[in-house]
Amino acid sequence: MFFGKLSHGKDFLVVMTAIFINENISLGRVEGIGAVQRARVGYYNHAEREYQYIEFNKPLEITKLFGNVSIKDNKPFVHAHVTLSDDKGNVFGGHLAPGTVIFAFEIILNVFEGPELIRSYDDLTGLPLWHD
Ligand code: ZN
Repeated sequence: MFFGKLSHGKDFLVVMTAIFINENISLGRVEGIGAVQRARVGYYNHAEREYQYIEFNKPLEITKLFGNVSIKDNKPFVHAHVTLSDDKGNVFGGHLAPGTVIFAFEIILNVFEGPELIRSYDDLTGLPLWHD
């Protein structure tokens, strides 16, 4: 289990993915709190089978980020969801997407040993899900 902080001004998914690749972590749980300079989150449209993206071009609090690390395309892949709050206490959230920039972030990471969980295309949902 690790505690740490992520670098100011960097893209969340780029930084987290680099940590997992550099530390050779293929199975884990990630969570944390902090703030973003701006955010981009996805909403999966079931009928269209594609993500719609929502952008927040303003500073927000991260009230919660939770995600997992598994294998996709033969490398560590982080899937995270995030809830964000604004200066009025309104809360938004979604699937963490590239384009979310760190202001400050305190990360807690659990690393697990055991068989890798591998993502592959799922016909029913159109998503890259875990398969046996
Ligand atoms: Zn998601």
